[in-house]
Amino acid sequence: ARPVVAVVGRPNVGKSTLVNRILGRREAVVQDIPGVTRDRVSYDAEWAGREFVLVDTGGWVSDARGMTAMIAEQAEMAISLADAVLFVVDATVGTTDEDEAVVRVLRRSRKPVVLAANKVDAPQFEADAAAMWNLGLGEPHPVSALHGRGSGELLDHLLDVL
Ligand code: GDP
Ligand code: MG
Repeated sequence: ARPVVAVVGRPNVGKSTLVNRILGRREAVVQDIPGVTRDRVSYDAEWAGREFVLVDTGGWVSDARGMTAMIAEQAEMAISLADAVLFVVDATVGTTDEDEAVVRVLRRSRKPVVLAANKVDAPQFEADAAAMWNLGLGEPHPVSALHGRGSGELLDHLLDVL
């Protein structure tokens, strides 16, 4: 069976944009405003002749438990069903409490993780990506889901852990 890769991270970091970049087509719904309800969606993807299933996440609904709890809960579900995780953070914002909540879930899962430091649209932002070493998840891979910068290298690293 094809390995399953869950794409997780807090709202608005660019998960769906990255999924579209990897698919080479626009299927995942990109939202300018976080908090829009949508279910998890699976897509058949391929890189360097290897096939895998990408699971975009983001069907959160903010409720009494709050956004951070919702994000962690949904990430936990997606991660539990996955063989590997593509964890997306926003290098231009830096680490947030919501990112840390997902990191705790990732640690517990012991699943292989590839860290994507997104929105590195130009070389001068690579230092922002390097700051993401502080998450303790290994090397942050700078990428611009919007422009495609670094996506090939990111996928090479993803295949390495599959
Ligand atoms: P998600 O909530 O994590 O799925 O994030 P989306 O993919 O819906 O993207 C949220 C916003 O970030 C949208 O306005 C995207 O156009 C923008 N975005 C995504 N990737 C990049 C990127 O690499 N660079 C920049 N500058 N913006 C991005
Ligand atoms: Mg999304």
